[in-house]
Amino acid sequence: MSQSPSVALPMPKKSKRVGIVGAGMAGLYAAYRLKLSTDPSITVSLYELDGRVGGRVKTHRFTAEKDQYFEAGAMRIPSTQMHQPTFDLINLLKDTHHANLNLIPYHLTTSGNRIFVNGILKNGGDDRTAKALGFELPAPYDGQTADALLLSAIKNVLDLLDRDFEQGWKLLMQYDKVPFRSYLLGLEWPVSVIDFVETMCSQTNQFALSFSELIMQNLDFDTKDWFTLDGGMDQLPQALAGVVGMDNITFGARVQKVEENGDGVTICAETPRGRVEQTFDKVILAIPPSALRMIPDRPRWDSRKEQAIRAMFYEALYKIGLRFKTRFWEHVQPPSLGGQSTTDMPIRWIVYPSNGIGSKGPGVLLLYSWNTDASVWSSIPFNERLKSSIWHLSKVFPNVDIYDQFIAAEDLAWSEHNPTGDAMFLPGQFSEYFEIARRKEGNIYFAGEHLSRHHTWITGAIDSARSTAEQVISDFAFKQCPTGWIPPTGTEPNEHYDPEAHRTKVIKGGVENVKNNREEFEKSVLDAV
Ligand SMILES: Cc1cc2nc3c(=O)[nH]c(=O)nc-3n(C[C@H](O)[C@H](O)[C@H](O)COP(=O)(O)OP(=O)(O)OC[C@H]3O[C@@H](n4cnc5c(N)ncnc54)[C@H](O)[C@@H]3O)c2cc1C
Repeated sequence: MSQSPSVALPMPKKSKRVGIVGAGMAGLYAAYRLKLSTDPSITVSLYELDGRVGGRVKTHRFTAEKDQYFEAGAMRIPSTQMHQPTFDLINLLKDTHHANLNLIPYHLTTSGNRIFVNGILKNGGDDRTAKALGFELPAPYDGQTADALLLSAIKNVLDLLDRDFEQGWKLLMQYDKVPFRSYLLGLEWPVSVIDFVETMCSQTNQFALSFSELIMQNLDFDTKDWFTLDGGMDQLPQALAGVVGMDNITFGARVQKVEENGDGVTICAETPRGRVEQTFDKVILAIPPSALRMIPDRPRWDSRKEQAIRAMFYEALYKIGLRFKTRFWEHVQPPSLGGQSTTDMPIRWIVYPSNGIGSKGPGVLLLYSWNTDASVWSSIPFNERLKSSIWHLSKVFPNVDIYDQFIAAEDLAWSEHNPTGDAMFLPGQFSEYFEIARRKEGNIYFAGEHLSRHHTWITGAIDSARSTAEQVISDFAFKQCPTGWIPPTGTEPNEHYDPEAHRTKVIKGGVENVKNNREEFEKSVLDAV
């Protein structure tokens, strides 16, 4: 009997294991990007503290009926180039993975929206100059609207960012250590004028944040067209999780320990079923810095990195959704068909839903505050928050019996949850902490909204996650990037991403651009200061 020749079976390739902490948009997108890699040996496991995916993308549904929900987290997407990654992701999930995601227009403002400040109620279309709204400002400021004043102060910088984002960003970094309020003082605006504009266009004490952060924020809010997902924004992370694979996510897992050792990086998490421990080749921490700080057993990195983790500023955010018997705001004169009302009362902004406009039956609106205006809500219990919300809302709609209309409420003070709010950097934090916070440490990588240039938006979480995932792919594929390598921002998906080549390209491109636009750039700097 002849013996069959022995065949050398191909050895199964050792898998490249990536652990991801956090299944918010950044963690999910990083997992998705890793799955898109042409290297099939990359495996991904996610650990999520909550019982759901999405993190700060959270929709609260009062009932299963249509339009009976409000967005407790992300609610709108500006239609600009910078938010294209969010639209691209939605389209990809629809086209390639048959996700049922339906974008509908979101109305940021509409002509019917009322204003209530200094005890004065103004209807949509009424005079909104400082004088008409009861603000005592010196001439000629008193005859102007807050929107017009703000635009006059920042238009040059916004235009520069629109024309050439990288040049604009350089300008922002040049003035990053300046509080936005100081910039306005530098324009010789009286404090009362600054307070007027902050009250009407922003929220209390936001102008104490950095010049760069406020400019970036206004770049978004200067946008004309906006969109939202019909039926709730949480459909986006849910669709993404479906593609990543729900089986790859451990829910209810609070990661308590992250340890780099000879085998890779070990993660320990407390779950309802007990303690789990797993070792990976690489780990991505896709969690906000506040959550990272609260992992008791983790490596301590150098003092600048630890300072960045401690200090990166998050502003408090508060939302309360109120369900009423009718969409009464659409039946007053003039009606509010989407958009929002500004008040100087604790409720600050009344956001009218852009979904279901004109529909009959119950409707949901939300009250939204930021920063100092949001923090005050944390000081009182839910029943007091509710009473206060209804009482203040009735001032804006004096002819509607709000108490009779009320059905139910639900709220979320983000400062009471692990992210504590959204990243909004203080003066100097972009220039001092941004790069160091994003820097990988050994086989531990970082991702999240706060590690992008586009804070407080889904697009920032996507942008950061994409850069980090590509860095991981690159580190697996090529020789390991040295510790200290910082991912570039806003790179396009590129399977064979070579950090060194990219670095050279960025520097070269940057030099070329500065040369080409030098005169324009210098003029903008002079105009802006
Ligand atoms: C009120 C509000 C309004 C917003 N409005 C908009 C908007 O209109 N449009 C827009 O584009 N963006 C908006 N944003 C911003 C957007 O939601 C965020 O930028 C984005 O969702 C952040 O994603 P992330 O993955 O970086 O962080 P997160 O969403 O915070 O995800 C982090 C995840 O990590 C988990 N986690 C934390 N600690 C641990 C741990 N120890 N172990 C395991 N898991 C852990 C958390 O549970 C969470 O799921 C808003 C945010 C808020 C709060």
